[in-house]
Amino acid sequence: MTAPARSREPVMRMAVHHLSLPVRRPRDHGIGRVAETIEIVLLRLETAGGLVGWGEASPWSVFTGTAEAAAAALDRYLRPLILGADPRGLAGLMAQADKTLVGHPEAKAAMETAFLDLLGRMSGLPVCALLGGQCRERIALSVSLADPDFAADLDLLVQIRAEGVGIVKVKTGTKDHAFDLERLERLRADHGDLDIRVDYNQGLAAHEALRRLRDVEAFQVTFIEQPVPGGEREVMADLTAALDTPILADESVFGPEDAIRAARDRVADLFSVKIMKSGGPRRGLEVAAIGAAAGIACYGGDMFESGVAHLAGTHMIAAAPNISLGCEFYQARWYLLHDVLANPFPIQDGHVIVPETPGLGIEVDEDVVRAHALTTREESA
Ligand SMILES: [Mg+2]
Repeated sequence: MTAPARSREPVMRMAVHHLSLPVRRPRDHGIGRVAETIEIVLLRLETAGGLVGWGEASPWSVFTGTAEAAAAALDRYLRPLILGADPRGLAGLMAQADKTLVGHPEAKAAMETAFLDLLGRMSGLPVCALLGGQCRERIALSVSLADPDFAADLDLLVQIRAEGVGIVKVKTGTKDHAFDLERLERLRADHGDLDIRVDYNQGLAAHEALRRLRDVEAFQVTFIEQPVPGGEREVMADLTAALDTPILADESVFGPEDAIRAARDRVADLFSVKIMKSGGPRRGLEVAAIGAAAGIACYGGDMFESGVAHLAGTHMIAAAPNISLGCEFYQARWYLLHDVLANPFPIQDGHVIVPETPGLGIEVDEDVVRAHALTTREESA
């Protein structure tokens, strides 16, 4: 006997929280430093039946956009679509969001995540089941080393290795080439079995890239991420052809439109998939599918996120066989001073464990949200 279908469950209330969350240490990247706090936007939706769903926008001003823009996108431009909407119309709603507002992928990721969370709670299914079904129960976790004080990163490495982490991503192109090579040499010498990747975050100029990357190749890194600016796709393609080490495109590939061009032009050997670039998990799966069709494996990247966005990414990767290179959802555990989830983001033996409970699978601690909110806008239908 089948259960009766649940009746319409329209969204009756929405709240947009712009948060500032303190972080543990400064971090350097090829495109800039992050220190003291990160800013995110949390979207809380509540249905007529009292179900609550959450989504997160995690912009970075030098990469995808600003928290202020994401908050305004949700509160002003997407609100008329969200209030009164039934989560079962998700695909149609997201198509309308694209017609209503150009760009703003982080705000659209928050919207789609909150609706997926609601759909999961309505159906009793985890989000990965709604995204097509689960292909993995856990995801290998990479932790990024980006501290300007390398000694602090070595201390962190001892801690994360004791907890089973076997992958690190070194943020290169921040100070000088010698600093990058010294760090790689030390890591290789002390941790021979470590899976090391490097990420330049666009930090190299085209004319210097090939020689420097040839030096890096000597350390047997698994991949080299985004060595030059995202728009320099021809340079990316040249480096991909010239080097033995796989090149991974991050800033060069946001959504499916970028992915199909990058696959055609062999801009990279690998893609980083992020819900904040693609505009939500469903479009992230489209990027992964294009990669799969072109023989391009994918990696589960992230921005500076809380556990809510980590969970959305986790469910996307759990439903994507081609996102096979692990993920970097470490901030909730090792970077934020306080995450917003009521229970710790699930990490065990160096892997993210995919939640099996309905929706995203972990509740948000609303006291933490209120304590860190710079602004909150609430509206009812
Ligand atoms: Mg990157």
